[in-house]
Order: sequence, then C-alpha cells, then structure tokens
Amino acid sequence: MQKVIFHSTIFGPVHSRRLGTSLGVNLLPDDGKICSFDCLYCEAGYNAQGHGTTGLPTRAQVRERLDAKLAEMKRCGERLDVITFSGNGEPTLHPEFAGVIDDTIELRDRYFPEVKISVLTNSTRIGDPNVARALRRIDNNILKLDSANQATVELLDRPAPGYNVGKIIEQLAAFGDTAIVQTMVCRGEHEGKTVDNSTESEICGLIEAYRRIAPRQIMLYSIDRPTPETSLRKIPAEELRAIGSRIARETGIDVQVSC
Ligand code: SF4
Repeated sequence: MQKVIFHSTIFGPVHSRRLGTSLGVNLLPDDGKICSFDCLYCEAGYNAQGHGTTGLPTRAQVRERLDAKLAEMKRCGERLDVITFSGNGEPTLHPEFAGVIDDTIELRDRYFPEVKISVLTNSTRIGDPNVARALRRIDNNILKLDSANQATVELLDRPAPGYNVGKIIEQLAAFGDTAIVQTMVCRGEHEGKTVDNSTESEICGLIEAYRRIAPRQIMLYSIDRPTPETSLRKIPAEELRAIGSRIARETGIDVQVSC
C-alpha cells in the first residue's frame, strides 16, 4: 500500500513545479496521514494507512524546527523561494494552525524577508474564521477545487461527511483575488466507476465556479507521482494546456498549467 512520503516536520528544500525552491512544513504526523479528504491521487497514500505513532508536532516544536532550518540555510547562503505547508494531510486541521502561521511569518521576516509563504489546502476548513484569518495573512492561499459537481468530488476527493461543494465555492468566493485555486485534472476508474474531471460538463462547471470565485490565479496540474488508485492517468500536456487556455479565455483569469 502506498504510504506517506514526508517523515519530518520540516522537509526539503525541494524543487516544486509550481512554486520554485520550496521548504516544506508538515503539520501532520511523521509516519501517518490525517486529512478531511481521501483523494484517489494523493501522493501520501490513502487515509486507511492510519494516523501513525508520532502525533502532530506542537506549535513550539514547529517553531523550533523551522527556526533551526532557516538559520542553517541562511548561514550556508542557500537559495529559497517559498515556505510551503503541505505534507501528510490537511495542514489547516492542526489545532494551532493560526499560531503556527504567526510564527512562520515572524521567522520568514527575520531570515528571508523576500520569501513567500504558501499553504496548500483542500479548502474544507476555510469556513473557520481563525483559519481564514491566518490564510489571509500569507502570500499564497492555494485552495483546492477539483470539480463543481458534488458527485465528482465525492468520487475523486472522497471528502469526510458534510462536504457541500456549493457552500465551499461560496467560501472560496469570499477570498476573491487573494485566492489561488488549484485543480487536479485526471481520469481513470475507481471501484467500477469512471473518474474524469476533464469532460465538457466538468470544465463548464469549473469555469462557472472560477468566475464566481474570481481568484487571482488558477493552477491546473495533473498526476506527477504514483497514486493510490493505480488506474488514474495523467492528462497529456497538450490537452491540459488547451484546457488551461480555454479557461483563461472564458474567465479572464490567469491560468498556470503544470504538466
Ligand atoms: S487533500 Fe491533499 S493531502 Fe488530503 S487526500 Fe487530497 S491530496 Fe491528499
């Protein structure tokens, strides 16, 4: 079974297709996964692998570990473009997420004031005022919306009970041009059902949602690493670029395509 790929709170720096030289922050366990989605394409594997044994790092531990890493990188003259919260699940589920963001901004300003702070989130917690306030303080809120169709989200992203995509789109719209919306586009099968969020009706639904949200940018990407649902296929680069061009033309929003 495919399992988590990050084994520490701070990882990297790694080269990100979308963000440049990125120092990763994992607010989830080192040896297990916690997420309010259970995406068929999750590079950290399925939630069924369990929460692991290490628990979540505390706010104080995150601060101490990030401080040490940034100090070392500064001392060695290393390049850094961005500090990115991602890791083994959903970072905004951390109970001290807002405090961690406060600390990260302070440390960034001390060591690398020109560096951006990004959070990759599945958007399920953006209705929480504390989470929303913290996200508004950083440079790149990268908020997931894979489909505007409830049935497709349930098949592809497998959210925890209570998820309502219409409500999420309205919450995303409240971020407006401070948001970057990220959409994974892929196709395959799962348990006998066709998975495909690149169809005409899916793209039309997304275009309508993007118009409503009016983010500053849309990031389209496809599969880059092994996925727990092994039937999923990468969308060919040319096709993904064509989808991106159409979305840009029909929404007037900047679209970044990572092939
Ligand atoms: S939201 Fe992200 S971390 Fe959670 S299951 Fe999906 S890809 Fe994995």
